Amino acid sequence: MSFIKQYRCTLCNQTLDYDKDIMTCPSCGEKGILDIEYDYEAMRKFVDINYFKQQEEFTMWRYMPMLPVEKTHIDQMLKIGGTPLYRSNNLEKELHIKKIYIKDEGLNPSASLKDRASGIAVLKAIESGYDTISCSSTGNAASSLACHAARMGLKTVIFVPKRAPVGKLNQLLIYGSKVISVDGDYKDTFNLSKLAINEYGWYNRNAAINPHLVEGKKTVALEIAEQLKFRLTDWVAVSVGDGCTIAGVYKGFYDLLQLKLIKKIPKLLGVQSTGCSPFVDAYINSKPLKEAMENTIADSISVGIPRNPVKAIQAVKKSSGAWIAITDEQILQSMKQLGSSEGIFGEPAGVAALAGVKEAIKTKIIKENETVTIIMTGNGLKDPLNAQKAVKAPTLVKPRLEDLKQIIEEKGEKRHA
Ligand SMILES: *Cc1c(COP(=O)(O)O)cnc(C)c1O
Ligand SMILES: [Zn+2]
Repeated sequence: MSFIKQYRCTLCNQTLDYDKDIMTCPSCGEKGILDIEYDYEAMRKFVDINYFKQQEEFTMWRYMPMLPVEKTHIDQMLKIGGTPLYRSNNLEKELHIKKIYIKDEGLNPSASLKDRASGIAVLKAIESGYDTISCSSTGNAASSLACHAARMGLKTVIFVPKRAPVGKLNQLLIYGSKVISVDGDYKDTFNLSKLAINEYGWYNRNAAINPHLVEGKKTVALEIAEQLKFRLTDWVAVSVGDGCTIAGVYKGFYDLLQLKLIKKIPKLLGVQSTGCSPFVDAYINSKPLKEAMENTIADSISVGIPRNPVKAIQAVKKSSGAWIAITDEQILQSMKQLGSSEGIFGEPAGVAALAGVKEAIKTKIIKENETVTIIMTGNGLKDPLNAQKAVKAPTLVKPRLEDLKQIIEEKGEKRHA
């Protein structure tokens, strides 16, 4: 059952009949990113509070009637979504904030939120009869696509910038992708993938271009809402690269608002690194988006030319949210804090959301009596080299108790009597 009504172009605002094989607006070209609109009147009759009470599927396909895919093949797929939302044990005390929740997206099959988009991409490719899918990625979209395509018997051709972290690169190779490591930055990588996709006619999983993928990403918001029994936090924080994730988060809440399951969309906090902050720069200077340098350890959000600018800017604006930039040092400090305070290990772009929340608290954008959900988008094991920068190396000890005692007592970590 599909409740899709039509496409709408985010640039010229014209509507178009839905066609799964049309990706961008025919009038605007590649910049004319399309949004899928639903018939909420009809959807509301089907998706109400009882729908969720009776639903026995605990992956992202739980939201099937709200998604632009057919219910085929999902039983053969790896389990995407259904990730935990934790109330913080310690962070909210440390940060003097009323309530903090953490959505751990690092527990998806390929260890990032990107699986929610890749699941959709793989199903759409199968629906349209493709045998090869391609994308360019700073890392996670690629490793995620490679993962789910492998499971479903599709070939993948992946373009990554040469700086992609080793964990993500290894994932690609293990999942059996044809990996093209581009001697250039993400922008160069994206452009080469575009040329190749046109040349060879592969299925396009570039997230901004393909309007189905934001629909997959929105399931993270649907889950958060359900996990909070539709009583959302004041803020939801997420890091931003191309802008598809935050656009997806907004879309999920927007759907729930149309279905009258929530009363208000939470304020979205879009977080970027000061080393690559085109959205934040545009927001602070009230200027159009300009290309930015790509100079941050948070590789997943190191996107100099965001591909989904309109949807991302609208998401923050319409939710009455804010944009914020944090330094790489703040990211590393947050990585250590999230790990040692909550037992959750995130990659730099994942913990950037926490760093953003801390900065927003400091600058009084987030108030003490407000509540926050942090979307931790990717697992820390993907990027061990940057994690190493967040911590001190352990002390080496000879395997003798006397030596050990010296170290433990020197550090003042004496055993309690
Ligand atoms: C892709 C990604 C993001 C940002 O998503 P965009 O759609 O590019 O804005 C954030 N964190 C992680 C871990 C990611 O992989
Ligand atoms: Zn258009």
